[in-house]
Amino acid sequence: MKFDDYYIAPQIKKNLALLGFKKPTDIQFKSIPSILKGEDVLAIAQTGTGKTAAFAIPIINNIQASKIKNRRDGVKCLVMVPTRELAIQVAEVFTEIARFTDVTTFCIYGGVEQQSQIEKLEHGVDILVATPGRMFDLISQGYLRLHRINTLILDEADHMLDLGFIEDITDIKSKLLQRHQTLFFSATINKDIKRLAYSLVSNAIRIQVSPKDPVSENVSHSVVFVEMDDKRFFLERFLKDNPDSKVLVFVRTKVRAERVLKAMKRVGLSSSTLHGDKEQHERATLLGDFKTGKTKVLIATDISARGIDVPNVDFVINYDLPDKSENYVHRVGRTGRGTQKGQAISFCSKDEKIILDNIEGFLGNNIEIMAVSNLEYEQTKDLSSDSTDDWQSLLDMDERFEKKKKKK
Ligand code: ADP
Ligand code: MG
Repeated sequence: MKFDDYYIAPQIKKNLALLGFKKPTDIQFKSIPSILKGEDVLAIAQTGTGKTAAFAIPIINNIQASKIKNRRDGVKCLVMVPTRELAIQVAEVFTEIARFTDVTTFCIYGGVEQQSQIEKLEHGVDILVATPGRMFDLISQGYLRLHRINTLILDEADHMLDLGFIEDITDIKSKLLQRHQTLFFSATINKDIKRLAYSLVSNAIRIQVSPKDPVSENVSHSVVFVEMDDKRFFLERFLKDNPDSKVLVFVRTKVRAERVLKAMKRVGLSSSTLHGDKEQHERATLLGDFKTGKTKVLIATDISARGIDVPNVDFVINYDLPDKSENYVHRVGRTGRGTQKGQAISFCSKDEKIILDNIEGFLGNNIEIMAVSNLEYEQTKDLSSDSTDDWQSLLDMDERFEKKKKKK
């Protein structure tokens, strides 16, 4: 079935054609009719399979078909997402698909001043994409009212529910139009969260696609055993072997992100870091540069693991394994998006084997092991430009030692 065959507004069809979307992906095919009918949906589908458009297309269509749009206090659809970057990205998808319609989208998020956001809300928007912090702020200050909302969407739903917002979400639901539709979308969900999700909706919700293997089929992924202190040599070698590739490197903490950046700088490799300590405008620039390819190597924390759709990421490197097993799926899912193929490699140290076991338990599969011979392992260390057998640095050290002795 093609988008042309759907009973949706002609403007939306035109926009989809401009975006190059000819036919729906699986999850779109399965969820669009239910959402058009106003049903509640819990949709689980692999990363990069077009979940955003799966909810955006029918929601825009339903609003376009309604009589009143752009009311001043009349947000009709609220989309909650976990990060600022994702808020911007999801709002962009809505805006693109709603072009040539009368439906308006806007996004609110923290880290920037709120006045311009308040002014925009006062002009009236139909679809509001929001991160929780700024959204609750604006609600409590009385700038955002929820009483006309008839659709609540949780993207990355398992994460949103896991963040402990369950009471807030129940509270939000009590403020929406009494008859409203609730949509949950994610690539992963566990039993507890699923129960939580079901507890939030009264009528039966439908699980649309439930893949056996949560890792996208477009991603080939493997693990290599590397000691913690040697990881930088392996990253250096990988980046030098793949100089033209776009690489997203995940690390556990902000501090480690900066440390890895410095280690790469020492060996002449340029990269950028993206994490929660950066100012919002800087975060936006960094991600923008990675999107355009100006930055080839981005070192990020899990803040970028969920939902971010950057074109042409060739490799994801898990420099550290993720503490939360489901984040493995989300991290490696930053490559192999849409019809593209991607590759992910995880560096696992001795101490991380237990994490690897948990991840494999979560996946229900073993991750392929990339064998490295002892010789290759040693060579990777020896070939590093940061190798400490470097005579000059040894001489420098000697010299400093001698100077110290003399001073005494
Ligand atoms: P998910 O939320 O499932 O991880 P996204 O909604 O971010 O995935 O979409 C992944 C990519 O697939 C995006 O770049 C998007 O433009 C593209 N895409 C979505 N739907 C279609 C379609 N029907 N045809 C072609 N490309 C699509
Ligand atoms: Mg998504």
